[in-house]
Amino acid sequence: RRKWRRVVGVLRELEDSCETPVGRLKQVVDAMAVEMHAGLASEGGSKLKMLLTFVDRLPTGSEIGTYYALDLGGTNFRVLRVQLGGTRSSILSKDVKRQRIPEHLMTSTSEDLFDFITSKLKQFVEQEETVSEAAQSRTRELGFTFSFPVKQISIRSGFLIRWNKGFAIEDMIGCEIVERLQGALMKKGLDMWATVLVNDTVGILALGHYYDADTVAAVKIGTGTNACYMERADAIIKCQGLLTSSGGMVVNMEWGNFWSSHLPRTTYDIDMDLESPNPNDQGFEKMISGMYLGDIVRRVILRMCEESDIFGPVSSKLLTPFVLEMPLMAAMHEDESPDLKEVAAILRETLEIQGVPLKARRLVVKVCDVVTRRAARLAAAGIVGILKKIGRDGTGGITGSRSRSDAKMRRTVVAVEGSLYTSYMMFREYLHEALNEILGEEVAQHVVLRTTEDGSCVGAALLAALHSSSS
Ligand code: ADP
Repeated sequence: RRKWRRVVGVLRELEDSCETPVGRLKQVVDAMAVEMHAGLASEGGSKLKMLLTFVDRLPTGSEIGTYYALDLGGTNFRVLRVQLGGTRSSILSKDVKRQRIPEHLMTSTSEDLFDFITSKLKQFVEQEETVSEAAQSRTRELGFTFSFPVKQISIRSGFLIRWNKGFAIEDMIGCEIVERLQGALMKKGLDMWATVLVNDTVGILALGHYYDADTVAAVKIGTGTNACYMERADAIIKCQGLLTSSGGMVVNMEWGNFWSSHLPRTTYDIDMDLESPNPNDQGFEKMISGMYLGDIVRRVILRMCEESDIFGPVSSKLLTPFVLEMPLMAAMHEDESPDLKEVAAILRETLEIQGVPLKARRLVVKVCDVVTRRAARLAAAGIVGILKKIGRDGTGGITGSRSRSDAKMRRTVVAVEGSLYTSYMMFREYLHEALNEILGEEVAQHVVLRTTEDGSCVGAALLAALHSSSS
């Protein structure tokens, strides 16, 4: 009995340290807006890099023609072709091909990597194009989505700062990326011009804006997390005299690296961070995204196991980092069977813990709930932070000079992608609930989260169309 109390104690402690009352979320909102300011004020001024993208216009729906995209940002890469009809709703056709990057290429040379990618792209083009299309003399245009930290110097040029997500190709670091791609395309004899270089969230924003002109920001919550938004060029202080045709520019926040002392942190977070390959980095991401949430839950269950024999002996699986993947954690959380069959199966098969009694399985569901709820609510606070920075949170912007009542709230759309938001209902519900709490219902009704699909590559193709040399 005393041991049961100890296990419940572990849960209570977790609940306490993960608490996100609306007051604390508002502090996170303010911290996000302040860090955004700092990151825009000077290079290295904040953990938020606030990278310039040189995207100063977004698609409007009037784009016409056939465009390609190449999306490289993780273990898979995608090639895509879209035909645009010139009226907003009509992406006439969209063909996407997704393939895995062979593991050895992720740590090989840039030449090997680009050879591989461009040969797949060439196969795709030959497969998709009709004979008459192929005979046309116009050079094909391509949007290149490259989702690694990049220092951009123009819309079609940028230098790789560093790799992540398992890539480690030394000869690429510090190099111009589009040149490499363009060289490989030429070598393959593929008549194609890379028109734009973008980050995946920028693609999502472009696609969101294509469908809905009120779209001002984009957020991705998948394996990792990031966000971008349209900023006023004159607010980008670190780049004095920045002139853009629209007076605005999309800023890639790299918000996964956001940090604030107001974030509710547990000992599990601290341990996971210390044992990670990038301690002290990506702090926000480690509390929010799919790569990490399962491992926080695993650590809590491990602690419960150590406190009591109610879960049986500690298994070697339970000691293995990252065995409990996000979809399994979501499945436990959303197990609606009265005897929590799914939870029992996952504990047995993935964590090798047998015969866990029902009341202990209920605790496991609760642990998933606490970790997901915190993640979703913090993501909501991050989104409101962006809205606050651009004066769309109903308070009249960061200076807060106007009161809620006289600030006219315009319809504001945020494009969202990533499996946590699109496939995990509880996550999405908690996120919406927190948005309503932070903004208040009156303001929240003007804020629309809209999911887009394949934005990282479709959006890149749309930006290629918008910046096409022939348009
Ligand atoms: P990306 O790798 O580009 O971020 P996704 O947006 O699909 O791709 O996100 C993948 C992440 O979402 C992974 O961490 C994966 O485990 C997690 N995931 C996939 N399906 C689900 C689901 N149904 N519920 C919760 N998380 C999921």
